[in-house]
Amino acid sequence: MTFQDLGLEADLLSALTERGYVEPTDIQAKAIPLLISKDTDFVGQAQTGTGKTAAFALPMLHKIQAGSKGIQALVLAPTRELANQIENEISKFAVNKRVNTFCVYGGTPIGKQIGDFKRTRPQILIGTPGRVLDLIRRGVLDFSECKLAALDEADEMLDMGFLDDVRSILDCMKTDYKTWMFSATMPREIRRLVDDYLTNPEEIAIQKKTLSNEDIEQQYYLVRPGDMPEAIARLFETMSSYYAIIFCRTKLDTKNLSDALNSRGFTADCLNGDMSQDRRDSTMARFKRKDVDLLVCTDVAARGIDVDDLTHVINFGLPLDNESYVHRIGRTGRAGQKGIAISLVAPQDERKLRFIERMTKARVEKKQLPTAQETRDALIKRLSDRVIDSSREADLRDPGLGAFAASLETLQKDDLIRALYKLNAADKLEHLKRRERLDAPERGGARGARVDTSPNGRGRNDRGPRDNSRGARDDRMEKDGRNTRPGFSRLVVNVGRNSSQMPFRQFLSGFARELDVQERFIQNMDMGQDVTTFDVPDRFVDRLVATKGIVFGDQTLRLDKTAPVGNESSRSAPSKPRSSRPRARKFAERRANA
Ligand code: ADP
Ligand code: MG
Repeated sequence: MTFQDLGLEADLLSALTERGYVEPTDIQAKAIPLLISKDTDFVGQAQTGTGKTAAFALPMLHKIQAGSKGIQALVLAPTRELANQIENEISKFAVNKRVNTFCVYGGTPIGKQIGDFKRTRPQILIGTPGRVLDLIRRGVLDFSECKLAALDEADEMLDMGFLDDVRSILDCMKTDYKTWMFSATMPREIRRLVDDYLTNPEEIAIQKKTLSNEDIEQQYYLVRPGDMPEAIARLFETMSSYYAIIFCRTKLDTKNLSDALNSRGFTADCLNGDMSQDRRDSTMARFKRKDVDLLVCTDVAARGIDVDDLTHVINFGLPLDNESYVHRIGRTGRAGQKGIAISLVAPQDERKLRFIERMTKARVEKKQLPTAQETRDALIKRLSDRVIDSSREADLRDPGLGAFAASLETLQKDDLIRALYKLNAADKLEHLKRRERLDAPERGGARGARVDTSPNGRGRNDRGPRDNSRGARDDRMEKDGRNTRPGFSRLVVNVGRNSSQMPFRQFLSGFARELDVQERFIQNMDMGQDVTTFDVPDRFVDRLVATKGIVFGDQTLRLDKTAPVGNESSRSAPSKPRSSRPRARKFAERRANA
């Protein structure tokens, strides 16, 4: 099967050839001919990494009338990274067709976006639900010619709390339009959305054999958290080649780990929500060019990164939830290539692997870390090979070389070798002096619990005695660090009663709208004179802390994490009543009309 067989117009076929796409994926082969030939609502379900973007982008472009202005198609995506990526992909397919695209998302000043939008006059608008809804309410968007709404990564939109916004947007579509929905999974809420908004949709589901790609080999090493940077260094120092993403739980970890790796002589970059969009883009570009071969990032920052030929995905500690594990490792083993997913697992987390194995329906193999001796041997081999290669590559006619040789004339071969060692190897080998082995011992019964699933079996006691061992301490620290509900973080923002002059409810709803977060996710809000603190789900934190240039009240918003609070007594005041949804609407409309 080739793209020629699918009925796409010539302009698109030539662009596909330029892009290097030869063979359609399963979902593309099934969805494209159907969407081209029929005017129908559609639901497409296929695993992450199966090419769903092109499955809707190509038939969408095929149907767009190039001459006519006005928005003809709307694409909704869960994050700005994904929205950008979709726009990017669409414009690459559209190189030979005169179609304008435009991308909108929250977290950037809306005024400039509106100006740019009006100048571009896109036929295809791509955006995150919050910002699209805001633009609708400000009367910027005209959907009178819009015949098509594509909802991409619908399950992620659900996760991000965007489904209500999606519904409100679909309610604003004026004409007889079709909805195409794509999703990796079909949770109940998504099914309900389909029932409510799609009419007799054609459905295509590509069955997966295992949840995680079978081209991914899963491995793990048991390491104490403090030893993980050294463990990662040893793993890569003993590998001949790699091009990998390393996932961390926190932004601070990404920074510390990439610094540690760079000081060990690796080229690593970090990617996290503290960085501006520009810096994130340039970091991604460097990684894609392979100027750096290790990218250290958080889950949120990694959303929507598409890099095809990763050799490894590394988990610097297991992620907090198993879904993220599947998302993370799905970034390797793409496009039919083999990939390796390596998890560094803290002893108290070893039990989690049992669930991961069950969920991925695949075994995660336990491995031993390279010893100091093995790492030293590999490093010495690599460095000495480099010395030998360099000596062969030197240009003998280079006058600099002659002068250099003359100035070193008094040195013997042994001296020179010592100098080379000092210059190239000594620092790298220094790290290996301290510990021969890094593997952590198993905690009592942990591995046994992996086979014993009976409720009264050893699985129950697999934590071992609550002694003062390192692992037990780590467990407690994790709990103490939480000042809010699990899965939530407490943020502080630089507006309060003084600067906003708004009643609490109005403040909350306007604030939520500006940040592209639904009100129900902002909890335990505590308004002070000059600052306000509140809890939000962890997954929003990186994005919110990176917020730039949003003005609210008379302040440019700056959000930050609060310092961890150790106990209940220092918690914030009890939550205040939340404003009702209709009220939020009214407020947003008033602002829109202002
Ligand atoms: P999904 O949305 O299903 O997770 P994407 O649309 O992001 O998947 O595609 C995953 C990767 O595969 C992207 O890098 C994309 O460019 C690439 N890709 C998609 N379709 C093809 C194809 N037919 N041939 C080669 N590469 C493809
Ligand atoms: Mg996708």
